[in-house]
Amino acid sequence: MTAGNPGTPAETHARWLIRGVTVLGDGVQGSRVTDMLLSGGSVTAVQSGLNHSGARVLDADGLIALPGLVDLHTHLREPGREDAETVETGTAAAALGGYTAVHAMANTDPVADNAGVVEQVWRLGRTAGHCDVQPVGAVTFGLAGARLAELGTMADSAARVRVFSDDGRCVSDPLLMRRALEYVKAFDGVIAQHAQDPRLTEGAQLNEGEMSARLGLAGWPAVAEEAIIARDCLLAAHVGSALHICHVSTAGSVEIIRWAKSKGWPVTAEVTPHHLLLTDEFAVDYDPVFKVNPPLRTGADVAELRRALADGTIDCVATDHAPHPVEAKETEWAEAAFGMTGLETALRVVHQAMVDTGLLDWRGVADRMSVRPARIGRLTRQGIPLAVGAPANLTLYDPAAPAEAVVSAGASKSRNTPFAGMELPGRVLATFLRGVPTVLDGKLA
Ligand SMILES: [Zn+2]
Repeated sequence: MTAGNPGTPAETHARWLIRGVTVLGDGVQGSRVTDMLLSGGSVTAVQSGLNHSGARVLDADGLIALPGLVDLHTHLREPGREDAETVETGTAAAALGGYTAVHAMANTDPVADNAGVVEQVWRLGRTAGHCDVQPVGAVTFGLAGARLAELGTMADSAARVRVFSDDGRCVSDPLLMRRALEYVKAFDGVIAQHAQDPRLTEGAQLNEGEMSARLGLAGWPAVAEEAIIARDCLLAAHVGSALHICHVSTAGSVEIIRWAKSKGWPVTAEVTPHHLLLTDEFAVDYDPVFKVNPPLRTGADVAELRRALADGTIDCVATDHAPHPVEAKETEWAEAAFGMTGLETALRVVHQAMVDTGLLDWRGVADRMSVRPARIGRLTRQGIPLAVGAPANLTLYDPAAPAEAVVSAGASKSRNTPFAGMELPGRVLATFLRGVPTVLDGKLA
């Protein structure tokens, strides 16, 4: 199978017939094997025996079609740290992982705290063309936690920012957090909080518990996350404004979010693939590839995070894809940077942690990795179930592909995947963005 440059007009207008695919369509009970026609950027027919005259045909026997995945939490590193990742390389990694949209976090250099930087990132995304790039704006100037950033002008800019976050840092000042929540209400924005009490985590290295004691690493207590989440749920309720909680990592956090949701408060939450699969025991050899913020927790936490994602207490999976150059990770544990890559492996990790365990079916995966994150991120043309009239944003996945060891070299500029060498099931075969393939045969189109 070959494909031309997706940017050429001919390719843009090409029609694709995806034959014999299992579609998880809107309003369709159960899954069904069918044909699907993509034309003019939309899904134009979903039925068996479609005529393929003039359309390019993709034989999708055994493949499932999911609406294109949407990531609420990606670090693309540009501008400023192009040695770790660029918008071009990060979005290529996203497409290979089945994503058609990513939210680019604001902790770049310069920080995305004004209209100029968010528009720059947004334009770079359009130029790269591998997936939609929706910039996230900083909550405070320079992520310094002192003064609100230009939230209104970022919202009004060409990038139409709706999600704001100081991710990498916590908005720890409760009054600033309250003001930010109040401010974004006017344009239906959401504040995404990196919940980490800074005082309780000074010098922290690994989840506070048996492993941190055994390894002699400074402990990172669960309460440092849970106290901020509890406070911010109360603030969101008080103000009546939307709070999103980034990378939930403890069972106690889940309990608080469950309580907040039971009250009907406007709170949503995400969990990362690595927190669904890995525990602090992976740190036993002091390999910094397992150093991440928030830290890997215990098996009991992992089990509760999986349950919470299955029952909807946690709304979605978000990668927190955090690329770092080799020198930042291949050093002593205490010196190493926090963070892991994740875009290229997320779906396979969720397959193993949630589908193979019977906790979620593929419809549930579509909901947690596409539909819900698009809604939380206020993306109106992404995360739409595959039915006639829907935008042709989709990924074709082979759930029966034999488990294969993850290789650290991919499209990302960085190599800090904690899954390297681990056998994971499944394979992303193709990704389409508005009817144009960004990935075919598991390779960039
Ligand atoms: Zn974070």
